[in-house]
Order: sequence, then structure tokens, then C-alpha cells
Amino acid sequence: MSYRNFTLETDEDGFALITWDMPEKSMNVIDMTVMEELSAIVDQVAGDEAIKGAVITSGKTAFSGGADLTMLEGLLKDFHIKRGKDAEAAAKALFEGSRKLSQVYRKLETCGKPFVAAVAGTCMGGGTELALACHGRVVDDGLKMGLPEVKIGLFPGAGGTQRVMRMADAQQGLQFLLQGRTLRAPQAKQLKLVDEIASSRKLVAAAKKMLKAGLDPVKDWDKKGYKLPNGKVYSPAGFQFWPAANAIYRRETQDNYPGARYLLRSVVEGLQLPMDLALQVESRYFAKVLQTPEAANMIRSLFVSMQELNKLARRPADQRPNRIRKVGILGAGFMGAGIAYVTAQAGIDVVLIDRDQDAADRGKAHADELMGKAVKRGRASEEQKEKLLSRINATTDYEALGDCDLVIEAVFEDREIKKTVTENAEAVMKSRAIFASNTSTLPITSLAQASKRPKNFIGIHFFSPVDKMMLVEVILGKRTSDRALAMAMDYIKAIKKTPIVVNDSRGFYTSRVVMTYIREGLMMLADGVPAAMIENAGKMAGMPVGPLSLGDEVALDLAWKIVSAARKDLGVKYLEGPLDNILEEMVVKRERFGRKNGKGFYDYKGKEKSLWPGITEVTGQPKPAESFNIEELKQRLLVMQALETARIFEEKCLTDVREADVGSILGFGFAPYSGGTLSYIDTMGTPAFVELCKKFTRKWGPRFKPNRLLRDMARENESFYGKFPPKTEQSQKNAA
Ligand code: NAD
Repeated sequence: MSYRNFTLETDEDGFALITWDMPEKSMNVIDMTVMEELSAIVDQVAGDEAIKGAVITSGKTAFSGGADLTMLEGLLKDFHIKRGKDAEAAAKALFEGSRKLSQVYRKLETCGKPFVAAVAGTCMGGGTELALACHGRVVDDGLKMGLPEVKIGLFPGAGGTQRVMRMADAQQGLQFLLQGRTLRAPQAKQLKLVDEIASSRKLVAAAKKMLKAGLDPVKDWDKKGYKLPNGKVYSPAGFQFWPAANAIYRRETQDNYPGARYLLRSVVEGLQLPMDLALQVESRYFAKVLQTPEAANMIRSLFVSMQELNKLARRPADQRPNRIRKVGILGAGFMGAGIAYVTAQAGIDVVLIDRDQDAADRGKAHADELMGKAVKRGRASEEQKEKLLSRINATTDYEALGDCDLVIEAVFEDREIKKTVTENAEAVMKSRAIFASNTSTLPITSLAQASKRPKNFIGIHFFSPVDKMMLVEVILGKRTSDRALAMAMDYIKAIKKTPIVVNDSRGFYTSRVVMTYIREGLMMLADGVPAAMIENAGKMAGMPVGPLSLGDEVALDLAWKIVSAARKDLGVKYLEGPLDNILEEMVVKRERFGRKNGKGFYDYKGKEKSLWPGITEVTGQPKPAESFNIEELKQRLLVMQALETARIFEEKCLTDVREADVGSILGFGFAPYSGGTLSYIDTMGTPAFVELCKKFTRKWGPRFKPNRLLRDMARENESFYGKFPPKTEQSQKNAA
């Protein structure tokens, strides 16, 4: 029999080698044809007397990237179309469709012949579930194994939840599932999810050896008298474990993620049932989670859109690709040092300049420290560390910028200093080289006035810490050219980060929205909401930290500076509010600047922090917590950010809905389950969102007034994704 995605060869011992190698794809994924062919292969192996057992491996460097999510999207689209006519039939079709893979894996597991997965490299989602359904697993030391489904609003629905919890230690297994973490080979072995580690060359031989040794084709859990390795759910050990597991789940997710919620349910319920029924329970919850708006929004933003942005959806198509060999960085401080590290890590030479050699060396030492940690953890070798460091030339000499393709300035946030370094750098840079500023707030067009080549001037705004934050905000000045944009995009791709492109304005997109979150926290303080309640409302709404805590991180003196500048710029038009008083009290009178001087809304002692008991001296006694509705506080914090995003969109600073959503999640951690700021509005519906804004305007003030675009959209019941569909590769092709 011949297959499109697989080959099958049987050796003289009767062992079939099944090689998965999808044509025209760089990575094996699970789609309809793969499912059908795998099912046929299992029938062939089971039905052919000459075949004693089988090894499944990949013909590519990686094993599999998991399920093709467009297949799931297709299932869902079908479901929504059919639902209007016959809801019950539509639900049944979705259940049957979404459990197909689980059934194929179960057939493999119970077909009577032993299967061994020989896994090299990346093995994700449905690929990992395939390996777990096999009777043995041999992996190479480049293994990266994960079930990352919770990260996109789903959970492993092809047996993953049931098999992991019957193989691994309960606590570690549950953590692995709930966090969607990636395991290296030794960790996977320690969790008992793999049996053996071999070198890539000997992988198949080791798998066959396992078969030769007489691998049992019946799993323990399919044998009579099977006992769960971690004990029953209803047992003394279970009574200790499961309530704690539930508490941890609540703490980590605030119950905002249906994917994680149904994962936990399917584990707890499934562990009380025999495998076939347990898999049915898992499938029921999987079909349920697929229908939630959270899953749809997360798949769209965190998978589809993010992939499109990573493939540089916004790069001008007519620009030739740039090969970036050397990048100059001005300012080796907090940000410059981080940018130097990620650039060198991408194999690009770096010139790192500061005012004196000591400061430049300190910047380079940051890369030394990060690589030192990586070596300690076994993630990099001593040679790799030395190689990376050799790429960074820490110096004070501007002449070294002469052959740079791109120069990024990250000096103090001060116009005059930025002007000087721009002039100094341009005096020696190649005429075609691009100059970028990492400013967080200063408009790029105004900074470009210091440049003789404003077409070559652009904003490349990183987030801190640079090595961890995946987003980069590219800012176009009025005169920035497509060539400069293409260079910035090619650079961001080279350092493996996700770009969004915004038009120039004060604070751009992310900084501007983040400030509204902090401001809303301060306004709540002024309204008499207890500080702890404000912080909890932020976290319960799905933000990574509360607004007061974020204010401390960003620095209250900086917030005070911004408020004072706005006050000065606007003069009599500036509306004095309670916010000004709180900030003035904190910063000017009490010198509480935030984390940077160990005191802000919190007191800091090393890594520990606790709310400052003196907050009431600044704000007065808070009202009792009962006088506030926690749901409304949560909404206030999210609505304010979403509303500011809609304004930025109307002002055309943001022009692509995908960038608004992805940027909000990656840039400032906006409630990921919502799919991002604009998905948040679309899910609620513009009419309901505008009503809520009006209600909050009456109750809390004019800052909640919905902008014109929103009001118009609400009148027509339009959504952002409906009215402003993103230009995908497909739609661009169709238009051409
Ligand atoms: P920092 O104070 O840590 O570093 C600034 C560095 O610039 C210092 O090492 C300083 O010695 C150097 N410098 C000053 N004048 C110089 C000159 N004339 N020539 C060469 N070097 C000079 O500041 P930072 O936090 O790294 O911020 C740098 C820039 O990045 C600012 O524009 C800031 O707004 C922006 N930014 C900061 C963050 C953040 O979270 N800190 C985030 C995004 C963007």
C-alpha cells in the first residue's frame, strides 16, 4: 500500500519502519490526510501476519509540530454554519470530528501489535500524543517535547490528558499539562514519558531493539487489576492532592481559561474511568472547549496572527531582503545591553558604544552573565558563550560604526542627548545604513529632525527585559522609507521576535495603553477602593500584575514627569484630577518612586514586596470593599485599555487588528484569554461595549467616553475583524 505522507518498509525480522515525511512541508503536522493514512497504516500493521511490530519515525529533522490548526478552524466554521439549522446535529458533528484523532491513536494502542515512537527534535501537541499512544518511546537528545495546547486556549484532546496522568508523577504531570511547558530529553525521561534516550543516528536501531526484546502490545491500563500509579482520586492521597491542585489552578488562571478548566475536569473525571470511557470524557470536554470564544480568540491571535506577523505580513513586498551583518548600539545601559545580547545571539556582529569604556564593558558583561547562566543550565556550551561574546565589540569609538547596516540608539530618554548621538553616528555611518531609536515615548518624526537622512530614520522599540520579551514595536516617522521599514523587519526576524508596525504618535501604542491601566488603578485609589482590592481586580481580570504594582515597576517619578509635561503642554486646558494629587504626594513629598528606590505603593525588601501601609495617608481611609463590585472593577481595567486601543486605531496609529491584539498580549500582557484588546471588544460586541463605556462615563468620568469610530460601529453592529479584515497572504494574492 502506498501513502502520501508516510512510507512503510518491513525488515527481515518483520518490523515495519513507518517514516512520516509530508511532501512540500518543512514540518510534519496532523491534518485530515495524515489521520486517514495513520488509521490505514494501523489496519495494515494489525492485519498483516508478517509484521510483528512497528517503529514510527520522521523523515525530517523534527518529529512533528502537532495538529494543523486550520483543520480545527474548519471544523468550527462548519459547526457555526450548521448550528443555525440544527444545534444538536451540529454539536454531534463537532464531537465526532474533534475526537477522530483520539480514536486513531486508541486503535493504534489496542491493535495487538507493539508500536515504538522514534522521536528526534521537536515533538509537539498531537505529535506528542501519538508518541504517548505508542507502546515504547525512544528519543534523541535534541528532543523538545510539549503539549502546548493550553497556551492557545485548548487542551490536549487526543489522549494526552489521560496518558500523561497514567504515566507521570501526578504533580509533575499536571504541571506539564497545565503550563504547556516544553521538556528536554532527560526531563521527559524523568517524567516517565519516554523510555530511552539515544543518539539521532541510532534512534531507529534502539527502537527496533525494544521491539526485539518483546515489547508488550497491551498497555498496563488495559490489563485487569490495573492500579493508577498515583492512587485513586477518591483516596487519602487523592484528598490531599486534588484540592491543592484545584487551588493552584485557580491561582494561576483565575479561572479565566476554559481550556485549563476543562483539562482539569477531564483529568479528574477520566482517572476514575477505564481508558475508553476516559477518552470519551476527554473528547466531550475538548469539543466543549473548542466552542468557547476564548479558544477561538486565542487560536486567532496567538497562533494564526502571530505566525503571520512573524512571517513579516507588514513588510513592504517590493523591498529586497537585507542581510544584516553588523549592528551598532548606542548606549550600553539596561536596554542597550539587552539588545546587544539578542543581536549577537542571532549571529550578527555588534558594536556596543557608551560614553566611557567602563560603561560599554558593563553592557557587554550582561551578555556574559546571561550566557553564563545558559551554560550552567546546559542550554549552551562554553564555546557558544565565547563565540557570542567575541561578536560584541564594546567601545567608545564611533568610527567602528562605519560598516554597520543598522544603528540603534538606546541612550537616555533626553532629546538633546539623542540628537548628539544621532549626529555623531551619521557622520561615520554608510549612507544607506538605517538609524533607529529605541525611545519609549518621544515621537520619531521629531527625533528624525536631528537626522540628515530622515528617510533612513525609524523607531525600533524593545521591551524589557529584552531577552525575554517577544514583541518589538516598529514606529514609522512621517518620512520613514519602505527601505528602512524592510531593514527593521528583517532585523526583527533575524533576532526571532514578533514585530508590529505603528504610525508615529506620543507613546505609540503599547506605552500609551499601559499608562491608562496604571492611571485607572490610581483613579480607583482616589475613589476609595482598597489598594489590595485594586491589585486583585487587575490579576483576576487576567493582567500579569496589578496596576499599582505596574506603576511601581515603570516608576512613579516617570509617571509624574509625564503628567507634569502634559500639564505644561496643555496649560489651562489641563484637567486637574485626583491622580495629580496622589502622584505629587507620592513622588514630590515622599520620594516614593517605585521599585527603583525600594518604595512606592509597595515596600521592597530584596525579592519580597508588600503593600505600603501608609497608602491611606495619601489617599485617605478607603471605603469598605463591599461597597465595590469586583466584576465592575475588573471591567473598568480592561475596558479602559480596550477603549484607548480603539482610539489609537481611529487615529490610524494602529492600522492592523492583528497587531493591536498580538501587541497587547505580548507587549503588556493584556488578558491573553481575550485574544487581545480589540478581540475583547468584538467578543462583547460593539453595541454592548459602547453601552458599558457610557455607563462608566456616567459613573466614573469622561475618560470612558466612547470615541466616534466605536459609536459608529455600534450603530451598525460592526466588529473590528469584520470591518477591518487583516490583509492575509491569501487576500493579497486574490487582490493581485
Ligand atoms: P539606561 O540609563 O539604563 O541606559 C542609558 C545608557 O546610555 C547609559 O549606559 C548611558 O551611559 C548611555 N549614554 C548616555 N549618553 C550617552 C552618549 N552621549 N553616548 C553614548 N552613550 C550614552 O536607560 P535605558 O533604560 O536602557 O533606556 C534607554 C532608552 O530606551 C531610553 O530612550 C528609554 O526610553 C528606552 N526604553 C527603555 C525601556 C525600559 O524599560 N527601561 C523600555 C523601552 C525603551
